[in-house]
Amino acid sequence: MYEEIKKTDPQLHKAVIGELARQQNKLELIASENYTSKAVLEALGSVLTNKYAEGYPGKRYYGGCEFVDVAEQLAIERAKKLFGAQHANVQPHSGTQANITAYLSLIKPGDTVLGLNLSHGGHLSHGHPLNFSGRYFKIVTMNVSKETELLDYEEAEKTIEKERPRLIMAGASNYSRVWNWARLKKIADAWKAYLVTDVAHYAGLIAAGIYPSPVEYADIVTSTTHKTLRGPRGGLILSKAVYAKTIDRTNFPGNQGGPLMHAIAAKAVCFKEALSPAFTEYQKQVLKNARKLARELQARGYRIVSGGTDCHLMSVDLRAKDITGKDAEIALDKAGITVNKNTIPYDPQPPMVTSGIRIGTPAITTRGMKDRDMAAIAGYIDEAITNKGSDKALKGIAEKVKGLCDKFPIYPDFKI
Ligand SMILES: *Cc1c(COP(=O)(O)O)cnc(C)c1O
Repeated sequence: MYEEIKKTDPQLHKAVIGELARQQNKLELIASENYTSKAVLEALGSVLTNKYAEGYPGKRYYGGCEFVDVAEQLAIERAKKLFGAQHANVQPHSGTQANITAYLSLIKPGDTVLGLNLSHGGHLSHGHPLNFSGRYFKIVTMNVSKETELLDYEEAEKTIEKERPRLIMAGASNYSRVWNWARLKKIADAWKAYLVTDVAHYAGLIAAGIYPSPVEYADIVTSTTHKTLRGPRGGLILSKAVYAKTIDRTNFPGNQGGPLMHAIAAKAVCFKEALSPAFTEYQKQVLKNARKLARELQARGYRIVSGGTDCHLMSVDLRAKDITGKDAEIALDKAGITVNKNTIPYDPQPPMVTSGIRIGTPAITTRGMKDRDMAAIAGYIDEAITNKGSDKALKGIAEKVKGLCDKFPIYPDFKI
């Protein structure tokens, strides 16, 4: 596999094959990851990577764009159809780039933004002090309630009344419940703020119609294409038609140079796949698996933040198990299970330690795992956490995990 890389760069080849083996032999429970189709990989590895195409289809600053124009137009039309949006910009290199464009299309540096508290599930690009968002805007936060661990809309509205943000950034990296987009739109309208919704995590479920869509409510919707949407790494912006020109201009030349045409071609493939009935069935299984895994963990004494999930992910409170998120991540990794430590709301531990882990089912569902496998996985997680001090026990679990993974090849004809 990857013979040309092997010839040119044996050192790198080893790393790539190592990664292929890691993906095949371990359980990927990181909620933001997935395995793309081979068609997406092919588009990513295509000659479109060679092409400069600053501008937009039909209005480029370079000659020879007739074929990449087709690719980008396909991606745009399919994204609009998939989400029922009036406008789509498929050029952002990442979710964060999409958010930069969204902010700068609507507000100016120095303006106030309301975003979800990062330790309650918000994203870096929603106001982390070291991120551009936290450096260029005044950030005020909305929080989840201590009791219900659901977004506290009443408190958010009080904050809006007091701080008068010009923009509400709604969306999360670690919030497993449904967002009430309509309610946020009403609040935004009442206080004359823009509503941007970042559905990076939920996009695949939204495309399949099993999670509420913010498209009719939000001024701008941003997303990634590589999480539940199962496409290439990249960003996406959807909006009402009135913002189309501003968004396109803010993204290029405002915030990016040449678009990554191979990635845009891969987005076109991804959107086509997402329009198929099989994709809807896949997303239904992602949700079923997440709910089943949450119940299986609860049955083993793990507290799931907010008591369950309405999407592909869950936040697990480990305090009752006397282990930090950091140590759980390490123990699980030794057992062949990949997760990330994550703060739980009102976490007493610092962000590099945490009291929780975040678990998601998009990747394991892509490989075909179903309900009964969730029970086995919950068992392995519990066994690893219980045996955190024994490398021998963890190695034993890793072998069982590999046995399970062997039954679900990701790319059957990719030889390691
Ligand atoms: C993952 C994520 C992003 C950013 O994606 P990158 O492509 O890594 O920049 C933005 N917003 C939210 C809510 C996310 O979860």
